[in-house]
Amino acid sequence: MRMSRPWSNSRNPTGFIVGNAKGPDRASPTAGSHHPMTLLQNIPLNLRESDILRRVGFGGRRRIRPQIKVLMHELMQEIEACRLLEPSAVYRYFRVEAVSDARTILEGGRILRGSLLPTLFSRAKYLALAVATIGHGIEDLASRYTRDGRVLRGMLLDGMGSAAVDQLARNVHLHVMEKAISMGYRASGAVNPGMPGLPLSEQRPMFQWLSARRIGVKLTSSGIMIPRKSTSMIIGVGSEMPSWTQSTVCKKCNLRSSCPYRVPSGDSDKSDGKV
Ligand code: SF4
Repeated sequence: MRMSRPWSNSRNPTGFIVGNAKGPDRASPTAGSHHPMTLLQNIPLNLRESDILRRVGFGGRRRIRPQIKVLMHELMQEIEACRLLEPSAVYRYFRVEAVSDARTILEGGRILRGSLLPTLFSRAKYLALAVATIGHGIEDLASRYTRDGRVLRGMLLDGMGSAAVDQLARNVHLHVMEKAISMGYRASGAVNPGMPGLPLSEQRPMFQWLSARRIGVKLTSSGIMIPRKSTSMIIGVGSEMPSWTQSTVCKKCNLRSSCPYRVPSGDSDKSDGKV
């Protein structure tokens, strides 16, 4: 069986539901800020078979057993019937006040540590901080299948969840880019806490500033995101911003020849970093 068309979760023809997140951000003052928190819900996702296979680790294979494709199709139907995908995101633009070698100071005295942001975004007017999730549904079902000994199902579902998060991140990035354009700026590619020069610990203040619990995402004491199928990112916004795509990152990566998750040149991430 072939999945000739991408699988979509969208029941809403208008796509995103976009709104300003309501209620005070108790963790951090927002008074006087120019840009409100933006909440995105019902974010449409169109999963391609190739993206799922890449995330399962089958990306480099020329031939995939037909049984696997049948199983993927069944699982996609189960995801849809049980409404297991609940993509949502929250993001906000923070004005950049000052940049030094190892820290970036944002409006309200908020500080992000690490050398990556100053290196990439020394000329940014704003940093857009975002947290996004597809919810608990897919990972819970994947764990249940794995516990029951139906390991292939669990593995495929896990790959589907990861492919969905990848696309969710691209869609949120696109949203941030459109806003940048409307302000007369450009948006950079996205960086994620945990990359070299941007400690994973910087997620904690990000989560507070964004009130990530509004979309049901929290951090464990060791800094792991719950639900696991979630992501956080930072995007530079200004007149001249560096852009890149995941495929260009993979092209320069030392692991590219053996990595099953590699994104081939010119593949699906056309929205990453391009304005
Ligand atoms: S950047 Fe490297 S490790 Fe990451 S997906 Fe691409 S090839 Fe694999």
